[in-house]
Amino acid sequence: MRFQVSLLCLCCLMLGGHSQAQDRASLLRSNDRSGRCQYTFTVASPEESSCPGASSAGPEMQGVMSRLTLLEATVSRMVEDTGAPALKDEEGLQEAYSQIMGEKSELQRDKEQLNRQVQELQKRVDLLSREAETLKLKPCQQIPGSSGRAQHEPNQTPASDPAYTNAAFQEMKAEVTEVPASRLINEGAHNFTGCGELVSVGDPVVHRKADSITGKYGVWLQDPEPQGNLYTNRTVWRIDTVGKDVRQLFAYEDMEQFSRGFPMKVLVLPEAVESTGATLYRGSLYYQRRRSRTLIRYDLAAEGLAARLDLPHAGFQGQHPYSWGGYTDIDLAVDEQGLWAIYSTAMAKGAIVISHLDPESLQVRNTWETNIRKNTVGNAFMACGRLYTVASYTSPNTTINHMFDTATSESRFLHVPFKNKYRYNSMVDYNHARRKLYAWDNFHMITYDVRLGRVSS
Ligand code: CA
Repeated sequence: MRFQVSLLCLCCLMLGGHSQAQDRASLLRSNDRSGRCQYTFTVASPEESSCPGASSAGPEMQGVMSRLTLLEATVSRMVEDTGAPALKDEEGLQEAYSQIMGEKSELQRDKEQLNRQVQELQKRVDLLSREAETLKLKPCQQIPGSSGRAQHEPNQTPASDPAYTNAAFQEMKAEVTEVPASRLINEGAHNFTGCGELVSVGDPVVHRKADSITGKYGVWLQDPEPQGNLYTNRTVWRIDTVGKDVRQLFAYEDMEQFSRGFPMKVLVLPEAVESTGATLYRGSLYYQRRRSRTLIRYDLAAEGLAARLDLPHAGFQGQHPYSWGGYTDIDLAVDEQGLWAIYSTAMAKGAIVISHLDPESLQVRNTWETNIRKNTVGNAFMACGRLYTVASYTSPNTTINHMFDTATSESRFLHVPFKNKYRYNSMVDYNHARRKLYAWDNFHMITYDVRLGRVSS
């Protein structure tokens, strides 16, 4: 290509030169010595009158040679001027091309490496899937000393409890079947008044804060089914249970007077109260007598003892308390189905036992043994014949974590959020008339709204 350009330029220049010197050029034709025809093209020099040192080649030839040399030099310069940038561009392109090809090779290598990694990961996923399938087919094994621990908060399981390390003790032996949320028909608290399963617990609402140390924990309630005219379902009852000889029962006309701290009456009980398990039902206060398994029914209107009876085999004085302690061995509860006792026995090895009691005589009508260890939960209450346990008495955000249904004798894990706003919840009791939980959380007397739902068949 370079050669063609040179030749073209040379021709142009020669033609140009020819036109300028046309008037001085001539063409001769003659025979040479051998008889062949010889053409001679003669161009006169524009400047030189003679050709020094050109005697052998002839003046015309010397002139042509000289001009050709000049032309060649000129063409050479022109070619150099016009060709160099193109060459530089070409070299640049070549360099860029090489670089791109190098990068392409590098990317290709990266791609291959990533493909290998993907294949490795796919193999691991397949392996783990197979392991998961194998584990699903295996039955659950009870590991002594660790059964059910994951369900509870770590500081609530006393490792020193011999019952805990008993391999025969199966805390969660019942089949665990979660009820899908879609099966619960959530009717809400306003339009569903029938019995159902617990759907949610609202935020705590404070009604009163105790103003002395005796009010750190205690019991406060309203009677869901009051009797007589003396006290109504608006009457609020309160017992501060800190102390060795707790006998004072405060009555408040209504929630407003309660919140202001103005009792209308103070009743003195015939026997000292143990801990925070007391409850109210149909005009009577039910409570555990101090340092005993004796249950007391105190008639509020008559202000006297109406019944007393030992709860058979019930542990007391710290044998089977809730996780916070406080001699909470026997917890009395009321729901739509009547009066209940939540406790444990030596035979049950610390598992929660539920007894349905005759509210008149305190006789046990029926008893269920659950698989929920009493000292691993913060508290418990009954609603619609079902026991519910609060996982922690101190965690600000804990859960209602178990449900035991007395109708079917089956228990189930739950995960209904529950708040211990003041970090020391010593009492939780259900009031079915108001569909609320009453609780005493570190000097604070609070309620929680409760929502129940029907379980679809
Ligand atoms: Ca309770």
